[in-house]
Amino acid sequence: MARVHYDADADLSVLDNKAVAIIGYGNQGRAQALNLRDSGVKVIVGGIADASQAKAKEDGFPTMSTAEAAAAGDIICLLIPDEVQQQVYRDQVLPYLTPGKALDFAHGYNVHYGFIAPPREIDVIMVAPRMIGVGVRDGYVSGGGVPAFVAVHQDGSGQAWPKTLAFARAMGCTRLGAIETTFREETELDHFSEHFVWPSIFRILVGSFDFLTASGFQPEAVLMELWASKEAAEVLERMADVGIFRQMDFHSPTSQYGTLSRMNRALPASTSECMAEALEEIRDGSFAREWEREQAAGYPVFTRLKQAAFKHAVNDLEVKLKELLDGGR
Ligand code: NDP
Repeated sequence: MARVHYDADADLSVLDNKAVAIIGYGNQGRAQALNLRDSGVKVIVGGIADASQAKAKEDGFPTMSTAEAAAAGDIICLLIPDEVQQQVYRDQVLPYLTPGKALDFAHGYNVHYGFIAPPREIDVIMVAPRMIGVGVRDGYVSGGGVPAFVAVHQDGSGQAWPKTLAFARAMGCTRLGAIETTFREETELDHFSEHFVWPSIFRILVGSFDFLTASGFQPEAVLMELWASKEAAEVLERMADVGIFRQMDFHSPTSQYGTLSRMNRALPASTSECMAEALEEIRDGSFAREWEREQAAGYPVFTRLKQAAFKHAVNDLEVKLKELLDGGR
């Protein structure tokens, strides 16, 4: 069984007299800073003089440069995009990593692949919400909690776990229970979802759209059926609430029989080979190397792929369908 940490396992007083430096006030940074402050933690915000910094100031946080925040913070949270973390870490954080400090991540990528390798006497910790930033804040404010993974990669101070759990509690992550993991497991799971699960879903949805419209169905009706009605989103929500098969009670017997009787033939048997290939590329580091090369070259492939995706007919149709379904206004 996975080890799960709850509020009772975390001592918030570990963070007394400690300053948490949030570097990057974006999706995660803002939500995490607000949650921590509401839990009584001293928070400072570091970054560049941009709209995010202005927002942090407007929200009432002391703001400063990344280097100043790294110098002043006891727990330094790198909540900037993964692609810029290496450079910001090297130039503006590393010089201030004195013994006893902790470096916190919301995703294991840069540490797991060795792009960031902090000195041994530093704690390297992770509190990784399984939730977008607005959900991190909403879950805290509503009292419901924030689903998360927690991990310690390096325990330089001997206090890395108490710090991680206190941080997770202050974020609202131990209310429901935070699952203990490793930087490796978090990174590999996250990438497997991104490299196999979501591409498969995208391909099935867009492929079904192409197939059904080519077969003579009305494009608007196809789009409504596949995802625009939000029925699919409702089904996913019920899966999370009551269970993937238990939610079938909300569907008709005809629907249940159709799904169960066709489930195993819906995809070719070779699908499991695609899964193995995706995991292999993640594990042997070839995806990470490919992504590093892509960044260094200025994103030529990424740009091409995005352009091709946005050229698909479905993009215009989505806008038109929204207009059509506005109640005739
Ligand atoms: P964002 O894309 O929202 O960017 C975060 C902030 O970083 C922005 O304020 C941005 O400022 C700032 N920034 C960009 N470049 C620099 C720089 N060179 N120096 C200082 N600040 C900079 O990031 P996310 O919040 O999405 O991601 C942060 C981390 O959280 C990542 O490790 C990600 O993997 C992880 N994560 C993200 C989740 C999500 O829901 N998005 C979920 C779980 C984990 P500006 O406004 O100028 O661009």
